[in-house]
Amino acid sequence: MTRTIGERPDQWAVVGGGMMGLVIALRLAEAGHRVALFEASPILGGLAAPWTLDDPEVGPVQWDRHYHVTLLSDSYTRGVLRDLDVEDSMQWVETKTGFHAGDKLVSMSNALEYLALPSMSPIDKVRLAATIVYGSRVNDWRALEVTPVEDWLTKLSGRSAFEQLWKPLLEAKLGDAWRESSAAFIWATIQRLYAARKSGLKKEMFGYVPGGYGKVVERFEQKLASVGVTVHKGTPVREVRSVANGQSRLRVKTDDGALIADRVLFTTTPRVVARLCPELEDQERHAFEQIAYQGVVCSSLVLDRNLANYYLTYLTERGLPFTAVVEMTAFIDRHEVGGRHLVYLPRYCPADHELFRASDEEVQERFLGALERLYPDFDRSGVKAFRTSRVAEVFPLPVLGYSKKLPPLTTSVPGLLAVSSAHIVNGTLNVNDTVRVAERAARSLAFSNGRFIVLD
Ligand SMILES: Cc1cc2nc3c(=O)[nH]c(=O)nc-3n(C[C@H](O)[C@H](O)[C@H](O)COP(=O)(O)OP(=O)(O)OC[C@H]3O[C@@H](n4cnc5c(N)ncnc54)[C@H](O)[C@@H]3O)c2cc1C
Repeated sequence: MTRTIGERPDQWAVVGGGMMGLVIALRLAEAGHRVALFEASPILGGLAAPWTLDDPEVGPVQWDRHYHVTLLSDSYTRGVLRDLDVEDSMQWVETKTGFHAGDKLVSMSNALEYLALPSMSPIDKVRLAATIVYGSRVNDWRALEVTPVEDWLTKLSGRSAFEQLWKPLLEAKLGDAWRESSAAFIWATIQRLYAARKSGLKKEMFGYVPGGYGKVVERFEQKLASVGVTVHKGTPVREVRSVANGQSRLRVKTDDGALIADRVLFTTTPRVVARLCPELEDQERHAFEQIAYQGVVCSSLVLDRNLANYYLTYLTERGLPFTAVVEMTAFIDRHEVGGRHLVYLPRYCPADHELFRASDEEVQERFLGALERLYPDFDRSGVKAFRTSRVAEVFPLPVLGYSKKLPPLTTSVPGLLAVSSAHIVNGTLNVNDTVRVAERAARSLAFSNGRFIVLD
């Protein structure tokens, strides 16, 4: 990536303006390259992008399309926020966690409350706690990656704790796919939750930037402009292929025309790469196509009063249309959202799930009906805005032996590269792991003349 003085900077095209693409575009430009960033949506940020909810009384309420927290131990995220001059403004808050089981909503915010949980036997609780402590101490995820999650958890926690707690939690995130999933998924989740404590921090605090990711994206845009990145928003890339057979330059086709680039780096999900790059070899295309993703249907609600003041409430009851309740204003200051209460209701499910086909009105009706059941004091006349986000590909399913199935970073098409959330092999989907992979990818490119060597 380093170049000789006087040499023409090579032209890069980065496809995807989510956190991965934004970080890589910034680092490439800082290293002296000419960079064009293409984002299909009219706004940058991808899964972390902001959106607006129209409250007829207080006016537009803007916050993240999907709920986000930053952990104190999220050093990669915080590093980027520092570069964007917003880290100093972060607010750090201790939040409460709720647990809904057997028609009761109880607090599960600390060890004592966990021990007092009514729905589990003392033995189950001890085995569960021991599983978490053990999981936090395991360093090598490779053996876990070939161990079915059910085998690992029943061996450590016992069948009863598995059925009562682990299985509902696995189903909430992975749906039926949990049956083919590896123990590395739960291990990575435990590791993330324990990261703060491992770094010597006593409390688990969650942080946010005032203004949310809307502010972060705004700063990113200014920063990219200052280092000369050309940003094309609302510009989906339609195809990438060589300028001429055997040539290393690539034509990036969009609805507005084409850009000729020396290197094209995709940060989208692997199936997008397979679809847009006709010159991939069959075997490679298969590697990109076979990475199956979990999707999400996630509604944002603006309410005139709170629900229960838990940031996150775990639900173990089957048959609910959403899989958790996230009360954002139990975490962020209500003034961020016009003095209202902001709640998210996520349902992680594959893109062929019927909720993806249900109309917005149907989703609203089902979700509000379930809220009425869960919170007897909830009154739907207090719902001031309701908006539903649907994303078909959010995180790759953690199938057995996942890391051996990864699509290539450097493809057989000269100049065509691809890195994405699929390459977070020993983590979970979060901005910190996304930025970690992005930073390593950018550094790796720096030492390898535009080819990836390794990411870890
Ligand atoms: C419900 C939910 C809750 C979350 N909660 C948290 C949290 O609490 N904390 C946390 O740290 N993280 C959280 N995350 C995860 C975080 O949002 C992601 O890790 C991160 O935003 C992923 O960034 P990315 O760039 O890899 O992918 P994306 O954000 O998906 O970016 C990919 C981009 O590529 C674009 N694109 C696709 N096709 C094309 C094309 N043909 N041409 C041009 N552009 C294209 C897309 O529009 C998109 O903007 C959450 C995510 C979700 C969905």
